[in-house]
Amino acid sequence: AASGPDLVVVGSGFFGLTVAERCASELGLKVLVLERRHHLGGNAYSEVDPATGVEVHKYGAHLFHTSNEKVWSYVNRFTAFTDYKHRVFGKYQGQVYSLPMNLGLINQFFGKSHTPQEARELIASQASEIKSEDVTNLEEKAISLIGRPLYEAFIKGYTAKQWQTDPTELSADIITRLPVRYTFENGWFSDTYEGLPVDGYTAWLTRMADHPKIEVRLETDFFDVAEEFKGKVPIVYTGPVDEYFGHSEGRLSWRTVDLEESVEEVDDFQGTGVVNYNDYDVPYTRIIEFKHFHPERVKTHLPGRTVIVHEYSRFAEEGDEPYYPINTAEDRRTLLRYRELAQQEPMVLFGGRLGTYKYLDMHMAIGSALSMFENKLRPHFAEGAPLTSGGVDE
Ligand code: FAD
Ligand code: UDP
Repeated sequence: AASGPDLVVVGSGFFGLTVAERCASELGLKVLVLERRHHLGGNAYSEVDPATGVEVHKYGAHLFHTSNEKVWSYVNRFTAFTDYKHRVFGKYQGQVYSLPMNLGLINQFFGKSHTPQEARELIASQASEIKSEDVTNLEEKAISLIGRPLYEAFIKGYTAKQWQTDPTELSADIITRLPVRYTFENGWFSDTYEGLPVDGYTAWLTRMADHPKIEVRLETDFFDVAEEFKGKVPIVYTGPVDEYFGHSEGRLSWRTVDLEESVEEVDDFQGTGVVNYNDYDVPYTRIIEFKHFHPERVKTHLPGRTVIVHEYSRFAEEGDEPYYPINTAEDRRTLLRYRELAQQEPMVLFGGRLGTYKYLDMHMAIGSALSMFENKLRPHFAEGAPLTSGGVDE
């Protein structure tokens, strides 16, 4: 029909909205975004909690950071960023340490001061227990990087809680980038740009969708309306890839996080945004206190109260939100079969964290959507190139 969309986007997270915005603004296409939740924005969605006046990230704390110039200049069209710099503290056996591992933590943990050179020598001698070429799992990898005492305090219990799997059975690449700094620098990220959207994630995401050629249809599951669009109009699908194919090749495994939100009757609960709980016998992995992400909003935060979230990690079952791909050897075999099916699916591109079964930070989801636009969608709509899913995960 004359009024039908030129492109259907399934999912209104950062991936879907970036594709929709580019296609509407650059190519003048009419884009229909289908979203099954009651709100747009995917997992980056946030709301102001009425009891405290504090912005709460409803699907877990979201900190924006990137070193990608293209992504940084793109996101700045829709929002300004504060100068928030993320820091994480870790509680272990009644003490609080400043993460990631740095000179401050090393001095405090070993109860004496070290110069950078002394700290390097100490950690090198503790790490020499395992040679890096002999590493076969996460535990050995961690010990080969930081030595057994720091591993046992800060990694072993936290990782076991986060993955419910013994660290000797986990893949070493989960912590390949584990930083150890021989300075007092304690910023959590090492990217060029970092900050939080000045007026919140939902305002940012809403502005991305605010275009006369974009319609976002909420509370609409693609699978309920698929017959209207499949094979008739190009589709960018950002839902779970196994669900698209009716789980024909089996289910991909995910971890979910139970987020237990509460309002505490104190001005300040923990003095900072994120405290990790590194002891194994504390059941939660971390506590988030959202007001600390926006110190500049102190006047709009109600005094005497604060909203916090305890995070508990576990395997996702049917009906749970899929958060982190587990990526076992079995998952990787299953994913390859879905990729083959995806390539044969006419006029459908798969993208985003669920569509590619990859943990993507926000800047990666946006960067990957910009690439899909330049490499697949623009050539198709502007020059008639065929739409195929080859290289789903570029
Ligand atoms: P999503 O945001 O998941 O969006 C997919 C959308 O598709 C959802 O809204 C879903 O409802 C919809 N959908 C699925 N199936 C259908 C269907 N059949 N019909 C209609 N709609 C459908 N990134 C960072 O950069 N910094 C962080 O600090 C950070 N913290 C995170 C913490 C947690 C706990 C998690 C889980 C992620 C975090 N991320 C963080 C990653 C960030 O959430 C992702 O990069 C981002 O969500 C990816 O966007 P997306 O569009 O690919 O997927
Ligand atoms: N990790 C850890 N102790 C910590 C923080 C992280 O052992 O205090 C390990 C753990 O295995 C975790 C991984 O590092 O799964 C990545 O942690 P990060 O906090 O970056 O993950 P997030 O849950 O925020 O994605």
